[in-house]
Amino acid sequence: MKEAIERLREIDREIYRLSEISAALGWDQETYMPPGALNDRAEQQSIVEGMIHERITSAEVGNILEKLGVDLENLSADLVIDGLEEIDNAFVREIARFYKRETKLPKKLVEEYAREASISQSRWVEARKASDFSIFKPHLEKVLSLKCEIADLIGYEKERYDALLDSYEPWMKTEELLSVFERFEGRIKEFVKRIVASGKKVNNDFLYRSFDRKKQEEFGRFILGEMGFDFERGRLDVSAHPFTTSLGFADVRLTTRYNEKDFKSGLFGIIHEGGHGLYEQGFSEKLIGILADGTSMGIHESQSRMWENLVGRSLPFWKAYFPKLKETFPGELSDVSLEDFYRGINEITPSLIRVEADEVTYNLHIIIRFKLERELLNGKLKVQDLPEAWNSEYSGLLGIKPPNDADGVLQDIHWSHGYFGYFPTYSLGNLYSAQFFAKMKSEIPGLEDEIGKGNLQVVLSWLREKIHRHGRVYPATKLCMEVTGETLDPDYFMKYLEGKYQDIY
Ligand code: ZN
Repeated sequence: MKEAIERLREIDREIYRLSEISAALGWDQETYMPPGALNDRAEQQSIVEGMIHERITSAEVGNILEKLGVDLENLSADLVIDGLEEIDNAFVREIARFYKRETKLPKKLVEEYAREASISQSRWVEARKASDFSIFKPHLEKVLSLKCEIADLIGYEKERYDALLDSYEPWMKTEELLSVFERFEGRIKEFVKRIVASGKKVNNDFLYRSFDRKKQEEFGRFILGEMGFDFERGRLDVSAHPFTTSLGFADVRLTTRYNEKDFKSGLFGIIHEGGHGLYEQGFSEKLIGILADGTSMGIHESQSRMWENLVGRSLPFWKAYFPKLKETFPGELSDVSLEDFYRGINEITPSLIRVEADEVTYNLHIIIRFKLERELLNGKLKVQDLPEAWNSEYSGLLGIKPPNDADGVLQDIHWSHGYFGYFPTYSLGNLYSAQFFAKMKSEIPGLEDEIGKGNLQVVLSWLREKIHRHGRVYPATKLCMEVTGETLDPDYFMKYLEGKYQDIY
């Protein structure tokens, strides 16, 4: 048994390194690659993905799993193999999960998808720049049809969405997701309605004065350092769409984008991606390989959203850092008080862009995407009708109509990569973040005072101990149980919002 696991680890190590090569190619494509290199890059990605597929689907992996007595047909998050320690057991579970998915897909399809997704992503950038959906449309159609083919091959019980959701939120079914959404969708809509109807306005004009890009970056780097981000094992760059990726166990890349006319964009992008980055830098070294990853995108997002909102948009946080911010931008913020700044960055207002939305209406953006992508996958909505459906949802739910495609249906990169099933994990992240933070508060006396003194280390240490170091050892639902003693409960998020916003609105 020990030998079998050892061999599996060797194979895993090679796959892990290949995934990092793929991540390096992807990072470069979104940051510095010249546009003319698109076809080279698409082919490179396709070859690497094909190699990963070959390795994980090899007969040898199948034989080892069989020898270990893994029942692939009934594989579940609760897999227990007698005689294995916790980490080895989790390792076999994750390899088996990967093997099971990939063996259902022919290598040619995996390669074709990698190539098309790479091209589609570049066309999306172009389309977004030109604010013209028609440039992107044929590529989205292609990627969607490949994703449907992939979902059908992987298989599902109730709907295609299940097969794709599982790549981002392992082991979760659409039905469970819907039941979680049911418990907060109505409340969130009601909450937004109440605030909009109150007619109260937050004045934050000062956030839209001119903020020098260089100084924004300097301040952002300072905050990342305060959060505990290790620049010896990571970098911060600029891209069209902020993201985090790991090119190695000790190489975590963050990106953001700056807007001189909107201070919030760059900084909260940095804090958000910083939250992802700290998770990636916090995996135990024992886990290198398939287990050195976020256990689900929902949990990953709980880390970024917690730093961005529960910490980064809190009063104690700015008690600690507003003086330094004022020092950085003396002309721009000299007439702004801490309280006004705090209220300013917490304005709730229906807006067009998801990544720049406040933490409340943010969830409405997710509800729209979740609905539309399910319809696309179920064939109820055609790609050509997507911009109109998008605009009509925005009018209905947020009361605003995007003036163009760039600020509407083209704003997010996800669908260009074929990431259908990804969006709901953002809302799951919001829900998890509030539940984790409530627990942290109950376990660390004076937590907010510590944050107010700029001692963010207490937050990071707690997250490292309870969440980060475990990587993928515990599936999301189990992790939530281990950390909080309960299953995911949207009530924590709603209570957090109600408590916070009664002081602001
Ligand atoms: Zn994120």
